Amino acid sequence: MKRSINPETVAVRVSKDALRNIRKGHPWVFENSVIFLSKDGSPGDIAVIFDEKKRFVAAGLFDPFSMIRIRILQFGKPAAIDESWFREKISNAFMTRENFIPQNTDGYRLIYGENDGLPGLIIDVYGGSSVIKIYSLCWIPYLEMLSGLLVEILNSKRVVLRMSEQCSKNKEHLKDFEDGMVLSGEKPDVPVIFSENGIFFESDIERGQKTGFFLDQRDNRSRVEKLADKKKVLNVFSYSGGFSLYAARGGAESVTNIDISSYAVEAVSRNIALNVNNPKISSCRYVNLTGDAFETMEMLIRKGEKFGMVIIDPPSFAKSEKHRKNALNAYAKLARLGFKLVEKESVFVMASCSSRITVEEFSELIVQTAKKEKKNIALTEVTGHPSDHPVKIPEGRYLKCVFARVLS
Ligand code: SAH
Repeated sequence: MKRSINPETVAVRVSKDALRNIRKGHPWVFENSVIFLSKDGSPGDIAVIFDEKKRFVAAGLFDPFSMIRIRILQFGKPAAIDESWFREKISNAFMTRENFIPQNTDGYRLIYGENDGLPGLIIDVYGGSSVIKIYSLCWIPYLEMLSGLLVEILNSKRVVLRMSEQCSKNKEHLKDFEDGMVLSGEKPDVPVIFSENGIFFESDIERGQKTGFFLDQRDNRSRVEKLADKKKVLNVFSYSGGFSLYAARGGAESVTNIDISSYAVEAVSRNIALNVNNPKISSCRYVNLTGDAFETMEMLIRKGEKFGMVIIDPPSFAKSEKHRKNALNAYAKLARLGFKLVEKESVFVMASCSSRITVEEFSELIVQTAKKEKKNIALTEVTGHPSDHPVKIPEGRYLKCVFARVLS
């Protein structure tokens, strides 16, 4: 079936600096780099960028409401941005994923925005359900076509739409689309269930954080599984218990979960129940604490609790450059509290998902905090995201996870 999209076209000229960046392959053109527009564009119009000699440079999607005015889809040579163009992108992404998604795993990221050549667009797959998440209104005119392609290429039984807060605020331009709506197939009456390395999890694709689950920690969860045998584990910012169930399968004696969201903490118990057939997951002892991580960790310190493995995976504290300093302080405070809770010869795992904090400064922050807490640690691994989150532009590299052995 052919689904027409009929976008309008806007001819654009941009600054010299912007041209240089585009020619290097960077897919964002900021509002202050645009020096000429042939007409006022609407979200989703195709912006065709020309150089001073009227030669084609690139084409992308226009968004008059975003600081990133154009998100580039096609570099160097002209092409029709039509359904076949998108079909090829999604088919390619699907084929490469098929090669490296682990066995017993049907929850993964199919499209990782700019890193898969589709800036501002995420597509996550949970078994037969696909979730499209948009970060710019420029994707609104393409949603039905994308949903059709997911049914065609992946045989998706259901496609759900999620949008960033910034998009859902702009009601006037949503054309009746809304966050959490079902674009194709039936509305799920319960969260959907999928498998990750053979462990079953639920994902609330209509309302959950991100697209319902934190798929980016898959490989780090496997690393935790290998280190957890016989350990008393503390999982801070546990969400629905991703790290916890892997630790349990790895032989952990007990897992204590802390999260501020009662919905997340309740999901931990549902996820444990989904894995009742796994003897290690069902025999592990779980303690679920709903509350602020800082306060709850302090409470555990006052009670004299100690753990053989502490995992700290906070939300992004540095959403913009001006929050960087506060974010670093918050990370240092969490690391400090974490080091107060580890016993001798234990494992310390801490992640940051702020792209504005570099891996070097994050690792250094952990090393320095350990010193201040008089802990002798050795970093054993510093990792990033799994291969279904490929990194093509520097901004795509957001996740870092430090694994350390606490020696004494
Ligand atoms: N480790 C999880 C993902 C964590 S995401 C996984 O592997 O799936 C961050 C989590 O932090 C969210 O569940 C959010 O509810 C929780 N959170 C945010 N602020 C918090 C706070 N101040 N105290 C405790 N939890 C918090």
